[in-house]
Amino acid sequence: MENSAYRAVFFDISGVLYQGGELIAGAPEAVSTVRDAGLAVRFLTNTSRKTCAQIRADLAAFGIETAEGEVITAPSAAHDYLRDHGLRPWCLVHPNIASEFADLDQDYPNAVVLGDAADGLNYDNLNRAFRLCHGGATLLGIGANRFFREGDTLLLDAGPFIKAIEYAASVEAVILGKPSAVFFRQGLEDVGCSPGEVLMVGDDVFGDVEGAMKVGLAGCLVRSGKYQPGDEDRVAGEFACIESVADLESVL
Ligand SMILES: [Mg+2]
Repeated sequence: MENSAYRAVFFDISGVLYQGGELIAGAPEAVSTVRDAGLAVRFLTNTSRKTCAQIRADLAAFGIETAEGEVITAPSAAHDYLRDHGLRPWCLVHPNIASEFADLDQDYPNAVVLGDAADGLNYDNLNRAFRLCHGGATLLGIGANRFFREGDTLLLDAGPFIKAIEYAASVEAVILGKPSAVFFRQGLEDVGCSPGEVLMVGDDVFGDVEGAMKVGLAGCLVRSGKYQPGDEDRVAGEFACIESVADLESVL
């Protein structure tokens, strides 16, 4: 590959590299091409029920090897935000990811981390989150999605619960996860690049492409995963659009 216009590429995972249990053809080769050109690589996902280690194992099973720290999830970003701001969290998150926060002091919490905690989002726990935030604790939201689909069933995501605490305690949450600017800026800081030096590749024209462009990154929409015909016209501004990640080299 000739010299690229970029110094780093951020990949969304689901719908870009694999979809459900299936690899998207050419994905491992596309990641290798970026690495071989000397560009930094990060994988940015909003997944709130898996640890970085679990996601790295999923990627490895599809032939995409990653180094520790290259996968940035909304929970890992929340962790780094807490660490960098010296906050002691009370974590209302899915049991699968509780271990992501284990190294932080959680006594006398002055922050609440609220994610898709499934059955943990009960009346007692929501009241505790409310009381902490009402008393001045920082509210961190892991993603702000309204709902998600599991099989044939629609389920409430973290967004409605975050809104409830914001409303009750008259606070504003810091949201980690795409399309939050805080989330993209953490990625930029991690690779030591200015926004214009990074290309964000995703299948969600709003969460991935528009969110990245608002922070100044270049965007690339793939027509795989959740892409719907016409998505490229739903967001203003210039960005690349390719059939799948297999064609990535053409826009580097
Ligand atoms: Mg996606």
